[in-house]
Amino acid sequence: MSRIAYVNGRYLPHQAAAVHVEDRGYQFSDGVYEVCEVRDGCVIDQRRHLARLKRSLDELRIDMPMAEAALATVMRECVWRNRVRDGIIYLQITRGVARRDHAFPPPGTRPSVVITAHGLDVVGNERIAADGVAVITVADNRWQRVDIKSISLLPNVLAKQAARERGAKEAWFVDAEGNVTEGSSSNAWIVTKGGKVVTRPADHGILRGITRTVLIEVIGAQGLQLEERPFTVEEAYGAREAFLTSASQIVMPVVRIDEHPVGNGAPGSIATALRAEFHRHAEWT
Ligand code: PMP
Repeated sequence: MSRIAYVNGRYLPHQAAAVHVEDRGYQFSDGVYEVCEVRDGCVIDQRRHLARLKRSLDELRIDMPMAEAALATVMRECVWRNRVRDGIIYLQITRGVARRDHAFPPPGTRPSVVITAHGLDVVGNERIAADGVAVITVADNRWQRVDIKSISLLPNVLAKQAARERGAKEAWFVDAEGNVTEGSSSNAWIVTKGGKVVTRPADHGILRGITRTVLIEVIGAQGLQLEERPFTVEEAYGAREAFLTSASQIVMPVVRIDEHPVGNGAPGSIATALRAEFHRHAEWT
């Protein structure tokens, strides 16, 4: 079956789906994006993802290109046209096409909208989660507004590649104080020896992950104790458990950080339980 992409009002064969060379996303990374999980043909936490999209656009002063309901309809159409049962939707909005100039383009320049959807290997992902993944740590050299889900991801690209080259699945960014901020495409968590679940507060130092937000509800419902506070790399090395969260990976146990096995080197019981519970608390559309 051929893939279909939505580009500025049209559904196009994936091969032919393109934006203009002077799209500001292409020229300046001047845009934002969202990634939503699709499960059993439903969009997971769509309302929260669209709310975060709106916030990111507002922060960059890009107009919402269409009503939220219309965007939701296009997302659903992309899922349907690509026959995605379990997978992801990728949505990107840029400041549009205009003659290259760093300052904002003339008023009335229409934002560009691209939406794609594709399947994920759910069984394969469960197998990965059963084994757990390794992460490395790298210096957090990103700008100071990583709370905006911007398409400007060069440090994240380099960090992820460094992880790959060291046989790891993810890179955790570490700030100047030695605290873990987040992963290159996920939020970072540990479980202390005393069983408390710890993650960094969602200030400007991290992206407020939608999975993170929902998981905080799950943690409460499970009667677990949550501490939103920074944690150091050293504390993570000595943690009982560690895991990461993102829309495409849900809750993914971390079993090695740099050269240090976490806990007994196998996925922890809390991470495993939170993964199993997650979708009961998520919103299905
Ligand atoms: N932090 C970063 C830098 C990310 O790219 C992502 C994934 N988009 C996340 C955190 C997790 O966010 P979410 O749970 O909404 O996928």
